[in-house]
Amino acid sequence: MSNPYKNAVRQLREVSKYLKIDEETFKKLAVPKKVIKVDLKVKMDSEQYKTFKAFRSQHNNAVGPYKGGIRFHPEVTEDEVKALSIWMTWKCSVVGIPYGGGKGGVICNPKEMSEKELERLSRAYIRAIVSDIGAWKDVPAPDVNTNAKIMAWMVDEYEKIVGHPEPGVITGKPIELGGSLGRTEATGLGAFYILEQLVKARKLNKKSLKIAIQGYGNAGYWFAYFAEKAGYKIVAISDSKGGTYKVSGLDPDKVMEHKKKSGSVVGFKGSKEINNKELLELKVDVLAPAALENVITKDNADEIKAEYIIEIANGPITPEADEILFRKGIMSVPDVLSNAGGVTVSYFEWMQNNRGRYWKKKKVFGKLKVIMDKAFKEVWKVYKEKKVNMRMAAYILAVNRVIKAMQLKGGK
Ligand code: NAD
Repeated sequence: MSNPYKNAVRQLREVSKYLKIDEETFKKLAVPKKVIKVDLKVKMDSEQYKTFKAFRSQHNNAVGPYKGGIRFHPEVTEDEVKALSIWMTWKCSVVGIPYGGGKGGVICNPKEMSEKELERLSRAYIRAIVSDIGAWKDVPAPDVNTNAKIMAWMVDEYEKIVGHPEPGVITGKPIELGGSLGRTEATGLGAFYILEQLVKARKLNKKSLKIAIQGYGNAGYWFAYFAEKAGYKIVAISDSKGGTYKVSGLDPDKVMEHKKKSGSVVGFKGSKEINNKELLELKVDVLAPAALENVITKDNADEIKAEYIIEIANGPITPEADEILFRKGIMSVPDVLSNAGGVTVSYFEWMQNNRGRYWKKKKVFGKLKVIMDKAFKEVWKVYKEKKVNMRMAAYILAVNRVIKAMQLKGGK
């Protein structure tokens, strides 16, 4: 598989050509400001100590504190974390929220660890990076294999060390510890707002649009839920075990009920069974990959028949496939825009924590819509003006904003 850091630098190189970025600025943006590498010594249930390698990459903080999740995974690498921190800078910049980009990772297999071991590992990670994080320094959040419970341990460890409450140091917390209402729905809802904007910009008839969704977890489900309520037809849904297809439209809640009972969307009553390859290649209007990275590659890009792709997952289309899709006239709305609803509501959480005032869910949804609509319109304008694909348009907008902030601060 291609090196994600090399991909991130390659993308930056492309954007540099459009923005005519000088070499010095390019180099500053291509390398994270700081990459913390630590060994965490953790006591296992066996009473033996085990060492875990961990990282925190802080890419750029010209606009605001570093922001980004922490993933627990056996295959996390330093280059992956660096790339993800770069993409976080662009994501926050596209939606215009006052954060830079960060990302953390611990090489571990959480599926083989007990809850107590995971807690000790989470606390050890915070102890190792405590002086580098803070509500105004670097604000971690959940990512692959980390969740609200882990964030609760982490915020507790941080507050014990600094000696005062500071809920804004971490987002994605349980509601009881200052988490935001609406965070659960945020990524799917944000992607739905992007869909609505796309339909408007392209003057499409939403009642006639057919949508296929790959991945039926948090993001995929909420996207389906809001889209179906607004009158779109969801004709196909899949998960890791396979998919389900019904040309007259699926009911997202009923499919979720079936998944909860049986463990998969496969076998949903009254629909046809399909596999993930078939789902990706369906003749639909909108395809929404909401599962994994690299699902559309140079090997299957030619088979994609959807007219539009909304990237809910991070990095579902490889750079080679991106070029093929562009040549075929398929428009993909990039992840840095389509899935930015999650980090936007994390920003709302941080704001609520810092002010000590909490919002109703309706207010969260309304504010999210304002940000997503504005971001789409801004990217669309660049797309029209520069005649590039939507990904490049989003990057041009994002990188330009970060460079301007750096220049205003004296080029740092
Ligand atoms: P999740 O774990 O809740 O759901 C993932 C879904 O993908 C599950 O239904 C799983 O069965 C399915 N899946 C796994 N392998 C698959 C395969 N090979 N084919 C088809 N389906 C498969 O995860 P999530 O939180 O919904 O995140 C999904 C994607 O969205 C990830 O790429 C994530 O990085 C991205 N994302 C999520 C958020 C968020 O707030 N949840 C924010 C930004 C980006």
